[in-house]
Amino acid sequence: MPLEHVDVLIVGAGLSGIGAASHLQDELPAKTFAILEARGAIGGTWDLFRYPGVRSDSDMFTLGYAFRPWTEAKAIADGDAIRSYIEDTAQERGLRDAIRFHHRVVRAEWSTADARWTVVAEVGDSGETVSMTCSFLSVCSGYYRYDEGYTPVLPGIDSFRGQVVHPQHWPEGLDYEGRRVVVIGSGATAITLVPAMAERAAHVTMLQRSPSYVASLPAEDRLADLLRHRLPATWAYPLVRWKNVLVSMAIFRLSRRRPALVKALLRRGARKLLPEGYDVDTHFAPTYDPWDQRLCLVPDGDLFGAVRRGQASIVTDRIATFTESGIRLESGEELEADLVVTATGLNLLPIGGMTLVVDGREVDLAETVAYKGMMLSGVPNFFLTLGYTNASWTLKADLVAHYVCRLLNHMGAEGHQVVTPVLPREAETWEPVPIIDLRSGYVLRSVERLPKQGPGAPWRLYQSYPRDVRLMRRGDLEDGVEFTRVTTEDSRAGSEEEGSVR
Ligand SMILES: Cc1cc2nc3c(=O)[nH]c(=O)nc-3n(C[C@H](O)[C@H](O)[C@H](O)COP(=O)(O)OP(=O)(O)OC[C@H]3O[C@@H](n4cnc5c(N)ncnc54)[C@H](O)[C@@H]3O)c2cc1C
Repeated sequence: MPLEHVDVLIVGAGLSGIGAASHLQDELPAKTFAILEARGAIGGTWDLFRYPGVRSDSDMFTLGYAFRPWTEAKAIADGDAIRSYIEDTAQERGLRDAIRFHHRVVRAEWSTADARWTVVAEVGDSGETVSMTCSFLSVCSGYYRYDEGYTPVLPGIDSFRGQVVHPQHWPEGLDYEGRRVVVIGSGATAITLVPAMAERAAHVTMLQRSPSYVASLPAEDRLADLLRHRLPATWAYPLVRWKNVLVSMAIFRLSRRRPALVKALLRRGARKLLPEGYDVDTHFAPTYDPWDQRLCLVPDGDLFGAVRRGQASIVTDRIATFTESGIRLESGEELEADLVVTATGLNLLPIGGMTLVVDGREVDLAETVAYKGMMLSGVPNFFLTLGYTNASWTLKADLVAHYVCRLLNHMGAEGHQVVTPVLPREAETWEPVPIIDLRSGYVLRSVERLPKQGPGAPWRLYQSYPRDVRLMRRGDLEDGVEFTRVTTEDSRAGSEEEGSVR
């Protein structure tokens, strides 16, 4: 029996996978596609994370799709609203029928002779596998492990009599009313959890080893509110989207060029929202520069508000050991706790953990270089969606999905079946720079296993949306890649000539 074949196989039904499928529908309606999704739901991140207060930390006018305006009042939206937005997009476009749920892709093998990938997926927990083939593989699997969040070694944890929960595996209906909570961590998750839990808990303590930069921004976007009532959504949305892109870029650039100034501004912002005499330097002044790690945004200063009202406190210290009733710190202080939340991060997982094989040879991701941040050197007909680290993920995901359509269109017109990024000869002398340029713990823990980037276009990730708009929407489709026409069993009837075009 021949295996089922589609033109494009998408891995993952999260924000990126649903976006990639939507672009294919709109721009290449004749192409066949399917989506393989490991879980039983649409939404990826926005379905998995269910901790109290879960929300975006970038604005929805840039985290939303370019093709579907975000029309709600809240610029910083909660997890449920984002999940509904992705589900509604899939529903409206009839994409549900294209999704095979409970299909975890574990292996993809490329054969140049057949000009296609054979993809193997595990079906649920049955131990059964299914295979199908595709001409192009589009991996939209996000960037981290779903089955296990990151938890560092916590000394003495077994002696603790209270409850320990990781935000990635939040127990449904967990009751923390009137309980003493300690949230370990200082990243976006901890900063979201603390004010949300403080509303019902007896008290919440955020225990951090080192602080993060935290900035307050309005939960609702004033320009969006103004335009919503005066213009149709299809006009207002791109205006607000571009305004937010330019503002966040300006902040990022200023942080890189004048870190001392941005540090001072962030410090002043925090001081204004905290109680008189609060020790801002200990709890909100990291040793690294702004944007060396992601900047944490809090809507309407909610974290600062919880501290001001005495519902939450921040402790910057190291854990000496857990005790029966809480945590003893290196300073000797004891934190009493009924519930400890380990908001200690994610484990990176490139390309959904699948094994890639090209013509019988396993691909070592660490030896590849990313091409335009969305293909890998030496890997044919393979696309990868990785969002920005300094701006909303979807800005890049939309550009990648559109670029894929442009490229496939071009290949169809020229009669090419295969496209492979090929490194120039001088690549041997390039300094290995990881594809993700943040100094965050989750990046540093996995940096050795990630693809690299080169010193200039098309091998460098500029983390700049306006630059990428030029490169991906209108830029050259032939730079740095090799196109091939392959005579396969299927195409032999047309007896095309085999050959390579650069
Ligand atoms: C708590 C949290 C908050 C965030 N907030 C923001 C934010 O405010 N702004 C922002 O820009 N980014 C944010 N991010 C990053 C976030 O991941 C992106 O916004 C976006 O959700 C990524 O979408 P995605 O579809 O690429 O990946 P995901 O949302 O991770 O979805 C990937 C999908 O692929 C499936 N999958 C994975 N591997 C396989 C496989 N081998 N086979 C089949 N299916 C597979 C998964 O089950 C999942 O459904 C946040 C991340 C987290 C964890």
